[in-house]
Amino acid sequence: MSDKQTHQMPLFISPRQSSLISARPKRMPRPTGNSCGTLGVCVLGSGSGGNASVIRLGETALLVDAGFGPRATDKRLGEAGLSLNSLQGICLTHLDQDHFRTTWPNTLLKLGLPIFVHGGHFADLMRIPGGAELRDAGLAQSFDSTPFEPMPGVNASTVRLRHDKQGTIGYRFDTHAGSIGYATDLGHAPQALIEHMAGVDLLCIESNYDEQMTATSPRPSWVNSRNMSDSGHLSNEQSFQAVRMIADASPTDLPRDVVLLHRSGQCNHPMKVRGVFERDPELANRITLTDQHRRTRWLQVHNPSIVDAT
Ligand SMILES: [Zn+2]
Repeated sequence: MSDKQTHQMPLFISPRQSSLISARPKRMPRPTGNSCGTLGVCVLGSGSGGNASVIRLGETALLVDAGFGPRATDKRLGEAGLSLNSLQGICLTHLDQDHFRTTWPNTLLKLGLPIFVHGGHFADLMRIPGGAELRDAGLAQSFDSTPFEPMPGVNASTVRLRHDKQGTIGYRFDTHAGSIGYATDLGHAPQALIEHMAGVDLLCIESNYDEQMTATSPRPSWVNSRNMSDSGHLSNEQSFQAVRMIADASPTDLPRDVVLLHRSGQCNHPMKVRGVFERDPELANRITLTDQHRRTRWLQVHNPSIVDAT
């Protein structure tokens, strides 16, 4: 929990200022774009078959996880009105296959697209084919507990969460237009997560399994034990309790939107998720369910306390 970071603005630290994050390569052709516009998120797909979400600020965009290959991601981005060329970088929660496909390095090298991984995951990235080339090109950038700027106008602060051996990273993205929290693949919701996400405008958090469906599923018992452990995934009930605690720790009406990620195809059902969240009608009105095969609509962050001068 020592990596839990404060999220007050302004804490922008550019990659160049960070001791761990290397300088971006000079040849990187990323357009600066307009980072002064509105903030939104679109989950391109979520589940054990792949996870990827795109955060858009004005004309710039950032991918969170890359659990679909480059071609499939480009197709889904196209359906959302973007393309791989729209991206400024990729932030990874961890390197399990459903969050990072090992087919990415060549595309990242071609596009000059930086990928941000926690220092604890850097060795995993180096082990995949093309990982060392990404490092040598200055595109594999590691971060520690210091907030960093994965694209202009976005401050990323992180919290380490338990998931299998290597753990996973929860992100909080703060911008002039509002804030987005993102946490998936966590065995439980520690107090550090609640505090880190308190006050975000939009929260993306996993709601992975229904306990009863898991208990009666035909999956091997060791898989169920792992998923239900403190280092596995959040059940619908755990997700609901975490969202309530984050809402309780936030100003009234926040988070305005709650996006529920990583629903198990075998051990969960949309009706089960809704059934749990409907216990709190106010929260139930704010949830958006994600899907493995379909992207969500664009969810815009509306922060009435912010007057956009643009
Ligand atoms: Zn996963």
